[in-house]
Amino acid sequence: MKKVYLDWAASAPVKKDVQKLVCDFLTHDIGNPSSIHEFGRNERKIIDDAKLAIANWLNIEPREVYFTSGATESINWVIQGFGATVKDSFFISTPAEHKATLAALEFCQWMGAKIELLPVYKFGRIDISHLDQLLAKHPNTLVSIIYANNETGNIENISEIGLLINKKYPQARLHIDATQALGWLDCSQNNLHFHYLTGSGHKLGALKGIGFLIMKKGYELSGLIHGGGQEFDLRGGTENVAGILSLGLVAKNYSENQKQHVERLNKLIMEKIKKIPFASFNTDLQNSTKHILNISFSEVNAEALTMRLDMLGYAVSTGAACSSGAINASHVLIAMGLDEKQAKESIRISFGHDTKENEIKQFLDVLIKEVDRLRQFPNERV
Ligand code: PLP
Repeated sequence: MKKVYLDWAASAPVKKDVQKLVCDFLTHDIGNPSSIHEFGRNERKIIDDAKLAIANWLNIEPREVYFTSGATESINWVIQGFGATVKDSFFISTPAEHKATLAALEFCQWMGAKIELLPVYKFGRIDISHLDQLLAKHPNTLVSIIYANNETGNIENISEIGLLINKKYPQARLHIDATQALGWLDCSQNNLHFHYLTGSGHKLGALKGIGFLIMKKGYELSGLIHGGGQEFDLRGGTENVAGILSLGLVAKNYSENQKQHVERLNKLIMEKIKKIPFASFNTDLQNSTKHILNISFSEVNAEALTMRLDMLGYAVSTGAACSSGAINASHVLIAMGLDEKQAKESIRISFGHDTKENEIKQFLDVLIKEVDRLRQFPNERV
């Protein structure tokens, strides 16, 4: 049975051109980018070229790109770095952030920082006037906001937040978790006005274990990982050159074409699901990244549905799974106002450029049957 992968938001398959480039590279890879001989210089050039590709993509300077092991590290760098660098630091964020942000904030709070989580409203968005009021009281603030939510795909109005901070609160700084927005939304600095932006390779079809942090010139933060002077002495450790190469290629070859295909799939799913009784979208269909859809099916346990679908060859996800493997109600859906039961009736479907239209059609037929079946026989074992 051919399996259909509909969990791209968790990790996207490595793109074909990336696979080829990285395999070739690994066959011949020798050297350390810090060495001054030719082998080392070749590796250094790969890093410099990747920084240039990312800089062109996001309309920043190559010098403002710092490579890390992924978005979790990048987010920790910004949050912990801000706490360590800025005196009397204050943090503003939301309860609908990725756990990397919430856990890093908790750590800073434990170290003595002050944190305020703004409530989120419909589809997980903040009220910008609340942010305005809070910033007026706390000028030395890092505002950390997710651009496209990883569980729902819902988009926050980042450019308005960026303008507010830049025009009215010059002492405050904006960090955007753009991990799920990159590749789908315009993340250029001139559009979003960020000071820091974080992203991850494996959500983009590059390798796992590579990510980046953009720090605007003049807003550099102290490092999280101390070592041999790499990344301008701010992130020690020999660079993950294969990962960097993969990310550079994705940034260079970024194309609008994949968006159109994914938009078509999104529409197909949306139209079919709208016809299922008592199905409701937790995704704002008008204002979300098109590769993620989050849906609640009333009276259907999402864990049971996900397991049934898996058995039948379709990989989707429920809310956040904790490390013990138990399924918790998603903190994002709870923050948006769903109750625990509704949150546990919700699944996330995510897809990408490689997902075929006929796979989606087959999946939808199976989904409709399984929702119906679980409503009739809720206690049936998988
Ligand atoms: N932020 C968001 C919005 C994400 O979706 C993820 C990954 O799920 C992360 C951060 C963490 O990314 P990484 O797996 O690269 O550490």
